[in-house]
Amino acid sequence: SGKEIVLEVQQLRAGYGELPALRGISLRLERGETLAVIGANGAGKSTLLKTLAGQMAPTGGRILYNGADITRMPAHERARAGIILVPEGRRLFPSLTVEENLLVGASTKRRGQWDLSSVYALMPLVAERRSRSAGDLSGGERQATAIARALMSNPEVLLLDEVSLGLAPAVIGQLYASLPEIQSTGTSILVVEQDVRQALAVSDEVHCLLQGATSLAGSGFTMDEISAAYFGAGVAH
Ligand code: ATP
Repeated sequence: SGKEIVLEVQQLRAGYGELPALRGISLRLERGETLAVIGANGAGKSTLLKTLAGQMAPTGGRILYNGADITRMPAHERARAGIILVPEGRRLFPSLTVEENLLVGASTKRRGQWDLSSVYALMPLVAERRSRSAGDLSGGERQATAIARALMSNPEVLLLDEVSLGLAPAVIGQLYASLPEIQSTGTSILVVEQDVRQALAVSDEVHCLLQGATSLAGSGFTMDEISAAYFGAGVAH
């Protein structure tokens, strides 16, 4: 279709000891696209992110980044190459200010359009809190700061884990409102989300995991189709 594939996952497998968590996942992320990975608790969403970020070794399959095989590339090298993970739990340095977190916390210093001023312009909530200790932030402010910090690394692929976890709907809306502008700079976003409506609202494509396997992938699905894929067909809800 002429679309540029930035990240391609082929038949990816991973597990914990004998327990398989990913049973052959394949997906493609295009440049500037947002892909939402949804699924119930334990479906394998976090495991997928960990294998993409290089924090966990797959037991099978391949990960290609701009056509190159990175399946065995260490996490820090992937970050340097532009694959940046915003982990669930928003690990910030609590005793540093928001601005110090943005400056020293960026996992790598890639050059690009994102710097302090452009990140602050995109996320006024973060700008307002720039002198505040990260430890004093609300949950939503911490999440916004974590995304801002990731942007400081000028990611080519942004991996977002459970952005909305534990946050009020208004705060979630503000956070997600910044994604289209991030996308428009050519950054591809893979967002893991338990909130299905939120995931559908922000994404170009959706990928549903069910017990470590793909139960649905693509776009334009009805809520009934998504619901069946999410819970497993035949389960009444
Ligand atoms: P959640 O939304 O609860 O984070 P998830 O979709 O991210 O769920 P994973 O955390 O990837 O799912 O878990 C996939 C499977 O692997 C589950 O069966 C889970 O119990 C198992 N699992 C996850 N982490 C570990 C671990 N550290 N040790 C053993 N098993 C694990």
